Amino acid sequence: MPIRLIVHGGAWNIPEDQQEAHVFGVRKAVAAAWPLLQDGASALDVVEEAVKHLEADTTLDAGRGAFLNSQGEIELDAMIMDGRNLNFGAVAAVQNLLHPVSVARRLMESKEFRMLVGRGAQDFAKREGFTQLDPQALLTERELAFYDKIREDASFQSKAPFGPLPGDTVGAVAMDIHGQLAAATSTGGTPRKWPGRVGDSPIPGAGAYADNECGAASTTGWGESIIKILLAKTVTDFENQGHNAHKAAAMGIAILAKKVSGLGGVITIDRRGNYGWARTPPKMAFAYWDTERETIEAAISV
Ligand code: ASP
Repeated sequence: MPIRLIVHGGAWNIPEDQQEAHVFGVRKAVAAAWPLLQDGASALDVVEEAVKHLEADTTLDAGRGAFLNSQGEIELDAMIMDGRNLNFGAVAAVQNLLHPVSVARRLMESKEFRMLVGRGAQDFAKREGFTQLDPQALLTERELAFYDKIREDASFQSKAPFGPLPGDTVGAVAMDIHGQLAAATSTGGTPRKWPGRVGDSPIPGAGAYADNECGAASTTGWGESIIKILLAKTVTDFENQGHNAHKAAAMGIAILAKKVSGLGGVITIDRRGNYGWARTPPKMAFAYWDTERETIEAAISV
């Protein structure tokens, strides 16, 4: 089977002076995870590894460098999904963890529960031996300054980030040598969100979806709109109907825009191994391994 890997680092009007850092981040994630895929690692291992690199990248809104909520705290959401059996693990509103995607993976493997939030998710992470960080460890000067700027701004809206303001959720989709698909998404959510707010990213079918018989997808954007149309599942449903990844991504995004005036982007791989991506915001940071040119293609899509 062909092996494939595509990642994203959010969709918004990424200004020119930030484009290099975004392209660098998504390229680095593919560079780190692609060799594993070549060595025969599972699609699940590879999407987890790629997302861990993106979570550690302070440029992006996941793990370290995430947005602050309205109380000035970081709360992270993540999910991972296995296309072989539709198993998934998801955590939401977790604090003090650098890699929520790995906690989601561990939860998926625990087989008992699929999704944990807040304190329950953190207790699970603790029991499983994940390092509990000092809350300050995930904060960046940039996000503190941004929080100070918007905290009292009465005109600020939660969908603003997907226009001129940042929206840098991360995600990865892979197909391994056995043709298995997997997808993962991780985020700090939207800036100044209400504590406990959960967006699309950890919701199966909204933030990510993977089904070997159809395709796999990871999304980014204004979660309150993406949830309404289950964007990742919508895209893989189109793939199931025979549309290639490119077409299916465009069709999903068209529904997001038309039906719910939504804002967002998606990356996907269909069951035949085609890549696809589409978005409503002006730009999206993404990278994939180009199997024809045998190199990483990393770009800000315009
Ligand atoms: N989709 C994420 C959320 O609404 C944010 C993003 O994609 O940047 O939580």
